[in-house]
Amino acid sequence: MRIANLSGRLVLIRQNRAIDVADTSAGRFSADPQAVYARWPELRAWAATVDHAGTAFDPSELGSPVPHPRQVFAIGLNYREHAAESGFAVPDTLPPVFTKFPTAITGPVSTVAMPADGHTDWEVELVVVIGTRAYQAPASWEHVAGLTVGQDLSERITQMTGPAPQFGLGKSFPGFAPMGPCLVTPDEFDDPDDLELGCSINGEQMQKGRTRDLIFSVPSLVAKLSAILPLLPGDVIFTGTPAGVGVGRTPQRFLAPGDKLVSYVEGIGELHQTLVEGAA
Ligand code: ZN
Repeated sequence: MRIANLSGRLVLIRQNRAIDVADTSAGRFSADPQAVYARWPELRAWAATVDHAGTAFDPSELGSPVPHPRQVFAIGLNYREHAAESGFAVPDTLPPVFTKFPTAITGPVSTVAMPADGHTDWEVELVVVIGTRAYQAPASWEHVAGLTVGQDLSERITQMTGPAPQFGLGKSFPGFAPMGPCLVTPDEFDDPDDLELGCSINGEQMQKGRTRDLIFSVPSLVAKLSAILPLLPGDVIFTGTPAGVGVGRTPQRFLAPGDKLVSYVEGIGELHQTLVEGAA
């Protein structure tokens, strides 16, 4: 199953056409794309009974398939080569975990204003959305609603300001958490643990990896995080970025006004960000 947020309304996506969930269910389900995760198993059962051709839509009208999560987790250093380019050891028992504050969330097609005098960097990531509450859960896909594409945009100067890094703030400027274009359930993939992901700037490929190289896999992250706190329906986990970020390059490279950043995960789709100069 694929779902999306079309102009603020929950839709099922089939063959690139949209089926409005609130209308088609005669109001049984809300139009609110975030509310559906509280009733995830019920939605899946209902969706299997829907026989509807859907209607064509404009992808620029898509919002984040998970617009208002209660908790956003982001995982650092979860690919070996990215840990190396960042100058860190590979985590063994627990990866670094930080947040992206929810006001940074946007849909898949957006214009992002870069902080003035900043070093704005790219990080394509597989994003997990939780479908059922998980607390002290085993490593499995059971509590995962689905997967989407995310960009963990990061302003490196803010991120590294002060005696200890400021990951939460450096990664939470407005527009720094685009997600989409849709949420895809794990059963839609031949192997949900092995998906290609990457990103390009103005057509030049910057990152390309596979999720089989995650140090902490999706099931493992569910176990590690839920060992400490409950994961709630509609929560989001940015699972970490593969090698090829700008800060790890020689010479370093950062996003510039006018750049077109395209990010993808195999079997899900693409994000399209246009970078512009922010206010000083
Ligand atoms: Zn990241």
